[in-house]
Amino acid sequence: ERGRLLFAAQVLFLKGVVAMAGLPPADRIEVCFAGRSNVGKSSLINALTGRKNLARASNTPGRTQEINFFTTEGGPYLVDLPGYGFAEAPVAIVKKWQALLKSYLSGRATLRRAFVLIDARHGVKAVDEEILQLLDRSAVTFQAVLTKADKISKAELERVIEQVKGALAKHPAAYPEIVVTSSEKGEGIETLRAIIATLE
Ligand code: GDP
Repeated sequence: ERGRLLFAAQVLFLKGVVAMAGLPPADRIEVCFAGRSNVGKSSLINALTGRKNLARASNTPGRTQEINFFTTEGGPYLVDLPGYGFAEAPVAIVKKWQALLKSYLSGRATLRRAFVLIDARHGVKAVDEEILQLLDRSAVTFQAVLTKADKISKAELERVIEQVKGALAKHPAAYPEIVVTSSEKGEGIETLRAIIATLE
């Protein structure tokens, strides 16, 4: 119920941040969302907030890599980290983005949890390991969120969950519980809201 209140309330885009100096004041807690491009991050943020076009539904490698902050009424900041895994992104852009991400994750005292989105069809891939290691080093508790669960069978889902559990076991910052979601079907959205609502 608390989660429902949090996200049914007004959610607004606050700003896109390209440097540490641009971060909003750390005057409330926040949670961030990470995942490789096309994992379904925009769809999940839109589903969570009940807003259709809050998070941009597409990311392009040429676009400025920004950390997007959303405010929730009386609740935490929702922080959308740029999608990773663009093989074709220029090295200079990737390097700048990695430096900002590293500073943000290690320096943001009010960051309570990172949700790392994993495509339910694919499980944890090599491209995800970099951010998982960064979260370990930054001591940011992260929770795996499987996306697009509607695209696979129950049996396949069970197999992927086991794979993800195995991958998470190697990461000290991993929160053991995995959240299974489908933005399309609304599965797991209330669960995720409730998890966010318990953080303080
Ligand atoms: P982002 O790049 O991580 O922000 O990913 P998007 O949210 O833009 O989603 C990428 C693609 O996956 C889009 O075509 C979405 O319609 C699709 N998608 C996202 N979530 C789901 C889901 O839960 N189920 C299904 N079937 N498709 C999804």
